[in-house]
Amino acid sequence: MYEIDDWEFETLAVRAGHQRTLEGEHAEAIFPTSSFVFASAAEAASRFGGTEPGNIYSRMTNPTVRYFQERLAALEGGESCVATSSGMSAVLAVMLAFLKAGDHLICSNSVFGTTTVLLQNYIQKFGVQVSFVSLTDLSAWEQALQGNTRLLFAETPSNPLTEIVDIGALADLAHRNNSLLVIDNCFCTPALQRPLELGADIIVHSATKYLDGQGRALGGAVVGDAERVGKDVFGVLRSGGVAMSPFNAWIFLKGLETLKIRMQAHCQQALILAQWLSDQPDIERVYYPGLPSHPQHELAKKQQSDFGGVVSFVVKGGQEAAWRVIDNTRMLSITANLGDTRSTITHPATTTHSRLTAEQRAVVGIDDGLIRVSVGLEAVADIQRDLKRGLDN
Ligand SMILES: *Cc1c(COP(=O)(O)O)cnc(C)c1O
Repeated sequence: MYEIDDWEFETLAVRAGHQRTLEGEHAEAIFPTSSFVFASAAEAASRFGGTEPGNIYSRMTNPTVRYFQERLAALEGGESCVATSSGMSAVLAVMLAFLKAGDHLICSNSVFGTTTVLLQNYIQKFGVQVSFVSLTDLSAWEQALQGNTRLLFAETPSNPLTEIVDIGALADLAHRNNSLLVIDNCFCTPALQRPLELGADIIVHSATKYLDGQGRALGGAVVGDAERVGKDVFGVLRSGGVAMSPFNAWIFLKGLETLKIRMQAHCQQALILAQWLSDQPDIERVYYPGLPSHPQHELAKKQQSDFGGVVSFVVKGGQEAAWRVIDNTRMLSITANLGDTRSTITHPATTTHSRLTAEQRAVVGIDDGLIRVSVGLEAVADIQRDLKRGLDN
């Protein structure tokens, strides 16, 4: 039919994975069916036995979900993709697939808050030891390694401070210890960063963010090689039931088609905003990997094709000043979500990071005056005007 090995990213994003039915539909069909019918008892037996390929039940496979899986796998350069009901269920499926009681896991202390809670409150309950280390401190990762360390988990760039770790160096550490490196690629997406090519073993995604990009649906994915993802993670999906709905898969297929041009626009706008914020007298500090002042600016240039759509900054005057900026916006959405066409604004200290104590927040660098903006696709001038109102007060 086609040779997807020959296609560039942009082409894969709009064409990979789709298999037209006999109806000849141009856009992908949605298959809202829980189960599939067999031609005979013998066919049912061979599908269940795995000797013949084909659909059985939508918890395991569904054509629309498969289109999405194949498209995202192609974009990440992975052999296999398993789509899940949310980003968190993708993380959960990885933990269930690769960890058992007595194993050890190292995670960066700046991952998505719910990932931390999942590991501390639930995964540890099953006898898995969990250590948290500073994302950017490679010697801390190395020191935390143990004989039973099975998995290293990192998110880069991190939320909300956009810290970056060298994926290749971390993969080397993991592999020397016979451990797997899992990267949450939610912030960059494959349009900006391809962790498998840099040495990571497994990628997890919250499709809810940039892959959809328009704030419409919850979903996630795990990408990697055929053995680990196609068999091991798929086994968790089959028995654990964290499947993506075909309706959501269709939304994500549409999202992937515009992923690259959206990410380019998010990055362009974020850089302009970060530079403008740096010039504002009421702002103490700006966190954006595209600024030369960012501690991992050079690494970001090497590892990513652009710097992403999230900009964080500290306003002078602590929480009161930060809340004043947020409450004076009229357009930006006050929400913890990110990766949307609409810009969002968040005060991490009192929302996403409010479960940490003040001391813990100080350790990870979450200042009371810190504001995170996920830069959307509105005109930058309008975003600036909206922020300026609170800064000028
Ligand atoms: C949102 C998010 C998740 C969780 O995804 P859900 O789809 O909300 O379950 C995981 N990792 C990162 C980096 C996120 O931003």
